[in-house]
Amino acid sequence: MSDRTPDSLPRPETIAVQALGRIDRASGGVVPPLQPSTTFARERDYSLMTEGHIYARDDAPTVREAEDIIAALEKATTARLFASGMAAIATLLRAAATGPIVVQKGIYYGTQVFALRALAEHGIDVRWFEGNDLDSLAAALADGKPTLVFAETPSNPWLTVVDIAAAAKIAHQHGARLAVDSTAATPIHTTPLTLGADYVVHSATKSLNGHSDVLAGALATNDTDSDLWQAICRERHDAGAVLGTFEAWLLIRGMRTLGVRVHSASSNAMAIAGFLAGHRAIETVRYPGLADHPDHAVARRQMTGGYGSLLSFDVRGGSEAALAVAGKLKRIVRATSIGGIESLIEHRRSVEDPMTNMPGGLLRLSVGIEHVQDLVEDLDQALAGIA
Ligand code: PLP
Repeated sequence: MSDRTPDSLPRPETIAVQALGRIDRASGGVVPPLQPSTTFARERDYSLMTEGHIYARDDAPTVREAEDIIAALEKATTARLFASGMAAIATLLRAAATGPIVVQKGIYYGTQVFALRALAEHGIDVRWFEGNDLDSLAAALADGKPTLVFAETPSNPWLTVVDIAAAAKIAHQHGARLAVDSTAATPIHTTPLTLGADYVVHSATKSLNGHSDVLAGALATNDTDSDLWQAICRERHDAGAVLGTFEAWLLIRGMRTLGVRVHSASSNAMAIAGFLAGHRAIETVRYPGLADHPDHAVARRQMTGGYGSLLSFDVRGGSEAALAVAGKLKRIVRATSIGGIESLIEHRRSVEDPMTNMPGGLLRLSVGIEHVQDLVEDLDQALAGIA
């Protein structure tokens, strides 16, 4: 195995396609090999045969390769993979819970549930802010020395765009670090660390892998000397929330097409958002690429090359109408998750807690890379007769 370090890092599309340029020296294979061993032999003098490789819960070669690719994509010095996006988020939030934690409202439901059930209900001071109201962030940080701000942009499913540079400045003024869940943006459209964030979070289950066949999570950072990063690495090791080697290999394979997938899905999403915005059966369309999206100016400044594959819209007529539309779709699949090559639709009210305040008419659409006209036609026939 060779580590070919390019002189300067190419663009993210190229990093992903070339898997950082690594080839298998032993065979000449241009595809990084899968090394499944959970344990690694020592020399007669008991030194390690390969630096760092002792046991797969500490460091497995194929997992490390996937981590190196994600670190390069996010312009980070290092990254760690976890068994799921939630395992990464839980590890980060638990490690930061040495003081108050400030979490954005209306982000991925599972993150909010974790912050409430696993942290707040166990005595951790969890505070909330509005992603597009940074005065509310400053107010939440004002006392008690919060350790971490957790943001998600664009948010799932509200598509709120957080001004990362401004949020980082405010967090740092108050001595807190900023973590950004960039799952929906992907490193193709946004690299939060270059805008001042301290940690990037991914559900790698989504666009990074892209094929709806791997569950994985990632944290990437340049904050490697901090107590927080040391605590995160210790927690991952001690609690064992690591990614398996086969999943890491599949993730490397999935990431090779990251650029074409993300560009194609984002361009489809833009077209579909435009189509839905002009449809009389639709009340609201949330997509940061639309000029009338409340955070469009921030998105235009912050996101490069597109606005992602995630959007949500409200069907006139509430839950009944939205479920009828979802039920009539023939090509778009009714299923949870986002960021896959296939388009998925979800009625969020049906899958959240009965106490949810999710509007009944809201459908979340994760746009895939099918021919855009097939997707528009499918939505058009499903919306016919509504309103
Ligand atoms: N972050 C975001 C934005 C998500 O959409 C999800 C899952 O939908 C997660 C985190 C959690 O990821 P996982 O399902 O891989 O645990």
